[in-house]
This record gives sequence, structure tokens and C-alpha cells, in this order.
Amino acid sequence: MENCIFCKMVSGEIEPDKVYEDEDVLAFRDLNPQAPTHVLIIPKRHISTINDLEDVDAGLVGRLYLTAKEVARNDGISERGYRTVMNCNAEAGQSVFHVHLHLLGGRAMSWPPG
Ligand code: 5GP
Ligand code: ZN
Repeated sequence: MENCIFCKMVSGEIEPDKVYEDEDVLAFRDLNPQAPTHVLIIPKRHISTINDLEDVDAGLVGRLYLTAKEVARNDGISERGYRTVMNCNAEAGQSVFHVHLHLLGGRAMSWPPG
């Protein structure tokens, strides 16, 4: 999709700090990391928000989580623990409207989130 920064990463127009890629999924480090590990895991196909997901996307969403598991293992945070977050729309603080799973770890985190 035009003017979507994450689609530009998928197309190669912008080069992300890539940590994983396959046919359907791309994972790269966040530009403004909120933890020692802060990786964004995205579907290559443009989907704006969780509200736009359909039944056919169930496997794709599962792949985002399986990618988070692998990236966490590669960054050595699997056993310490990590958090995965997918924000949806304004009140959750979504700022990029191409769905992405945040993987955060490498420091202790509090609950509830702000
Ligand atoms: P959201 O607020 O939508 O859940 O998360 C968007 C995330 O994308 C933020 O953590 C922000 O730092 C990250 N981000 C925004 N623009 C870029 C960019 O150009 N490159 C990378 N690597 N991350 C970005
Ligand atoms: Zn997009």
C-alpha cells in the first residue's frame, strides 16, 4: 500500500534492521526501542489493524507469534521472559496502520501497561 512505511520495508524501498524474513513475514528492530530487544513482526501483506483480520488470516497471525518465539530465542531472552503486544487503533496507541506484533524483552516489565 502506498505511503505505508512498513510496506516500504517489505518492498525494500526502506531498509530495516532485519532479523527474520520468509515468504509471508518480516521482522525488524524498532527504530525507537523501548527495551533491549524490541522487534516488530509484520505480515508482508498490508492489513491495517486487528479489526481487518479475517478467518483466512488465522495461520498468518500464528506465524507472527511463532516468529516472536524464534526471535526471542535468538536474542537469548526466552527463559527470562518477554512481552508481545499488538496495539489496535487510537486508544491503544497504534501509530503505524499496518499490523505488527511488538516483541519486547531484556528488562523487567510492569503490569498493567500505561
Ligand atoms: P505502534 O505504536 O503502532 O504500536 O508501533 C509502531 C512502532 O513502529 C513504534 O514502536 C515505532 O517506534 C516504530 N516505527 C515507526 N517508524 C519506524 C521506522 O521507520 N522504522 C522502524 N524500524 N520502526 C518504526
Ligand atoms: Zn502496509
